[in-house]
Amino acid sequence: MPLPFECRDGVLYVEDVALPAIAAAVGTPAYVYSSAALRNAARAFRAGLAPIRRKHLAFAVKANPNLAVLKLLAAEGYGADIVSAGEMLHALAAGMPASSIIFSGVGKSRRELSTALDAGIGQFNLELEEEGVVLAAMAAARGQRAPAVLRVNPDIDAGTHAKISTGRKQNKFGVAIDDALGIYARLSKLEGLALRGIAIHIGSQLSDLGPLEIAYARVGRLVSDLRAAGHTITHVDLGGGLGLSYRPGDVMPSPAAYGAMVWRVTRDWNVALMFEPGRFIAGDAGVLLTEVLWVKPGAVDPYVIVDAAMNDLARPALYDAFHDFVAVRPTGARMTANIAGPVCESGDTFAMGRDIDAVSAGDLAVFRTAGAYGATMASTYNCRALVPEVLVDGDRFAVVADRIAPEAMLAAQHIPAWITDEDRTSEPVLARKAA
Ligand SMILES: *Cc1c(COP(=O)(O)O)cnc(C)c1O
Repeated sequence: MPLPFECRDGVLYVEDVALPAIAAAVGTPAYVYSSAALRNAARAFRAGLAPIRRKHLAFAVKANPNLAVLKLLAAEGYGADIVSAGEMLHALAAGMPASSIIFSGVGKSRRELSTALDAGIGQFNLELEEEGVVLAAMAAARGQRAPAVLRVNPDIDAGTHAKISTGRKQNKFGVAIDDALGIYARLSKLEGLALRGIAIHIGSQLSDLGPLEIAYARVGRLVSDLRAAGHTITHVDLGGGLGLSYRPGDVMPSPAAYGAMVWRVTRDWNVALMFEPGRFIAGDAGVLLTEVLWVKPGAVDPYVIVDAAMNDLARPALYDAFHDFVAVRPTGARMTANIAGPVCESGDTFAMGRDIDAVSAGDLAVFRTAGAYGATMASTYNCRALVPEVLVDGDRFAVVADRIAPEAMLAAQHIPAWITDEDRTSEPVLARKAA
């Protein structure tokens, strides 16, 4: 089977579609996803968990909330892990059953809790005691019992970037694992809650299974303690976090290694396990297609200025993340260059002093491994268009998210009546000079 992203006759393809055809039809920058790569990753993750009999897989929607992507994952039997009512809307619109949706997130508003109760979602992951109290009251008033688990913070350093670590005690997520027994006991008495277990999620882009294993083992001890205290524990949500190889040659834990570790730690738990993979499913399935605008001399290395920017792909600016940059028509020649976008910030730099395919103005190139935390983090900074998304399936492709042009953003803005032209105290400087 051909690889989803592969050069044929000197041109980079996504499945059976040459990227220049997409650039010609859709323009650049644009995200391009491979259906086959999405399905492969979804199946590989599930296959890795084969030793675990009772499980529910919920795709972390924040990694890629595109409706077509969610629909494809729904067909693979994935539910959704959501962190907002907006993500719930997307998951439901993609045909994911409400019962397959898990609501995570440290700041669910009362309105969001209410919307999710009305929709009948499958599980609420409580982040603090008061949230449980409020949810229980809202559910009881409707004659419902909200299915819920308590998210614990195991105080583990996941060994990943600080901004995507979530399981250290100074992080905002979950309740301290040492307080969990007491909080669980109080929440379990509330009639509006069907409290059924524990959740955990210690961070993203985890390259080492060690911290996860320690965290899971701590959860296992908590489950025993909870049962000893008389609670019925039927569900444990192990979160997401499995890392991806962004740099060529990086070795990351496989789903099979992850599954074997999970089975080893949890085989005596006698619960249904839940998993919330995001990055692992979508990351490798997407590239950000871009055109080289200019190659300009730099103090040390030349700058390759591309038409994609930090507003389209924020990870390098946010986390110093590495995205491999490859030419769509590589000649075999190499250059050492900095790669930067048009946004007026020095932070809008994708790479410094990197050895890349030689490119010149007008060439197409891609940033790889951009299918997760790519388009979903895009903004309109610098009044740039919201980047479009394209899905490839075999020799077909379709725009699955439009480019939102500055005209549309302008149309959503309003000038209050009290700002009138009469308020102008002097002629605009440029106009006066021109006169
Ligand atoms: C972000 C997040 C995930 C997904 O993490 P990945 O690293 O993308 O797998 C899962 N669960 C929760 C609660 C999250 O916040």
